[in-house]
Amino acid sequence: MARQKAPINKRPFAGKTPAIREQYERFQSQTSARADVEAYRLQTPGHEYPNLPKWVQAQTPFTSFQDRHGPEDILGESAHALLIGNHASFDVAQYKRAPERAGMSMVHVLAIPKASLFNAVSLTRDTVSIIDEMIALFRRAWADRGVRDKVLAHQLGQIKAQHAAEANPNGYGVALKHYRELERTIHGLGVDDFTFGFHLWPDHSVGHLHMHVVATPCRKYSTDAHDAKTKDALEVRDFILSLPEPEAKPEAKRDPELENIASVLEAELLLEAESGSEPEIGIKPESGTEPHFEPGPKFELEHELENRPESR
Ligand SMILES: [Zn+2]
Repeated sequence: MARQKAPINKRPFAGKTPAIREQYERFQSQTSARADVEAYRLQTPGHEYPNLPKWVQAQTPFTSFQDRHGPEDILGESAHALLIGNHASFDVAQYKRAPERAGMSMVHVLAIPKASLFNAVSLTRDTVSIIDEMIALFRRAWADRGVRDKVLAHQLGQIKAQHAAEANPNGYGVALKHYRELERTIHGLGVDDFTFGFHLWPDHSVGHLHMHVVATPCRKYSTDAHDAKTKDALEVRDFILSLPEPEAKPEAKRDPELENIASVLEAELLLEAESGSEPEIGIKPESGTEPHFEPGPKFELEHELENRPESR
């Protein structure tokens, strides 16, 4: 009898809906949560954010990333999202003092929204489609050999950067050896070898939504210190979609000409037809307001990225 290969657990971070709910509700119950998230999203000048650890801030290393970085830092792009490299070596051998600062896999990249979205706990039914867009962006990018080569180059760059930051010749040699292994195997990784996760407030390190994209078969040299706090991206999406619809806004006054029942009906039919033709992936603009993913004004953050001490 042929032996069945054990299926790879493709969603190792799934099964945490109660914790997702708890963190979501705890965040939403904070006094200024909504106002601060909205100020970050709109990049409201002069908004005063409470000075609390892990709280919403005006700027982060990922805020308006596309305005401050060139193509060398961007692995892929869609209408509202970017794919970027993770800021760590994948090999714990290079982090003798703090192994948890290593990456979560030999291939560990991040997807971020271009718009200023704070964290998965501040997503709403209107903005949650960014998760599907980020996953679709990764899947499309990974099919491109050029992107995989760019990821390889980024991984090597992070190994060298970590060696420069914390000289550890032994660990450096080990990481380079493992990197050669990655070179041999990376093009054999398919999109289904990846899983997607979030660090929900207050477990996050950067106060701008970022989705961790982690190759599940190549984690043996990396850290599992963050696994417990990592939440499966699809589970987070489904949780946000399970939230009750926000209360309907009071109806705007109708134009007297539309009071004719036939024309109202016609307008409603037209609306229905329009919403039926919506693209599957993408952001649904709220009628009558500005689009949700309009990038905010530019911010200058030249040195913040370079000087970040901790792993993301
Ligand atoms: Zn993170």
